[in-house]
Amino acid sequence: MPESWLDIAPDSPFGLHNLPYGVFSEPGGPGPRAGVAVGAHVLDLGAAARAAGSPFADAVSGPSLDGLLAAGRPVWEQVRATVLRWLTDPAREEDVRPHLIGRDRVRMHMPFTVGDYVDFYSSEHHATNVGRIFRPDSAPLTPNWKHLPIGYHGRAGTVVPSGSPVVRPCGQRKGPDDPEPVFGPSRRLDIEAEVGFVVGAPSRRGARVPVGGFADHVFGVFLVNDWSARDLQAWEYVPLGPFLGKSFATSVSPWVVPLQALEAARVEPPERDPEPLEYLRDAKDEPWGLDLALEVRINGHVVSRPPFAKMYWTAAQQLAHMTVNGASVRTGDMYASGTVSGPERGQRGCLLELTWGGKEPLKLPDGSERAFLEDGDTVAISATAPGPDGTVIGFGEVTGSIRPAEE
Ligand code: CA
Repeated sequence: MPESWLDIAPDSPFGLHNLPYGVFSEPGGPGPRAGVAVGAHVLDLGAAARAAGSPFADAVSGPSLDGLLAAGRPVWEQVRATVLRWLTDPAREEDVRPHLIGRDRVRMHMPFTVGDYVDFYSSEHHATNVGRIFRPDSAPLTPNWKHLPIGYHGRAGTVVPSGSPVVRPCGQRKGPDDPEPVFGPSRRLDIEAEVGFVVGAPSRRGARVPVGGFADHVFGVFLVNDWSARDLQAWEYVPLGPFLGKSFATSVSPWVVPLQALEAARVEPPERDPEPLEYLRDAKDEPWGLDLALEVRINGHVVSRPPFAKMYWTAAQQLAHMTVNGASVRTGDMYASGTVSGPERGQRGCLLELTWGGKEPLKLPDGSERAFLEDGDTVAISATAPGPDGTVIGFGEVTGSIRPAEE
């Protein structure tokens, strides 16, 4: 990797090897627009591209990443290579430096317009734990689980950027001993630490995206908190799955890390037994397991470190499954991995598992206990991945604070 004329700390998770995309604004600036994080700065991508007369200037000049997403893989590669050249060629410093803004000055926005939103359920450890908690008298994994990546369609309109407050949802719940359902604020509000993927290049309706077509369609990766009201969910989910227990809010991190930045993070996924059907088999020598290390904090205290490399189904398999019936994907469609949980207790990605259905509350350093979230709690999910040559790829974080229910 060439050196930059910009002062970037060698251990920065936003070094030249990362260059994630987001949408930012700053006080007194021209409003939300596309940027690239580099070191302690954001590069105003559209302004720099216009100043340089770049052929992709129009695609990166809107108030979101939508134009860049739609432009397709050859343009994604061109933009990334160009930004790298801008930041490393001393002859470009004079032109590029005026378009760098301190990241401590900017506010981050929703990075793209969300099309459809699908949430999967692809951690074997998570699915096994939830099966044991919700259905203690049956096999933890349903018979279909190892044959297909289970998912459901979520609510795109309530996907919100990191930092958005989350109002405690109201709804119906009915405990096992309640004779009738009651209405009121959720008492079992939870998180789900997940990894999200956004589609750039659309697919044609009727056409399948094979496992090997993943990188032609998916632009990049970010973090997701799939807020979940467990009491609403437990009462409503039979037989059609999650609905109001999930749809009140889904938070996403502001920086989208391009797939190209994650080459060094690719790992073999766990062995699949039984072998999946042909359309779900990993493309030869093209593993899309990703070695992301997640961290979950409640009010600043680390409660879990979920390992994404342990996910049973990869994002490439999820996309292949999502389109195998001829359903198309469009620019801005996003999908999430499902709660990321590892085999260890300290690797579980939601409170339902961490507290075993609320029976084993967590102790926080202030002496308080948490079975589920309380009003005022702040949750932050962050992640890193290995970059080339011992570097670290940062994903930043997705945060949200709980506000009291509006009754
Ligand atoms: Ca989820």
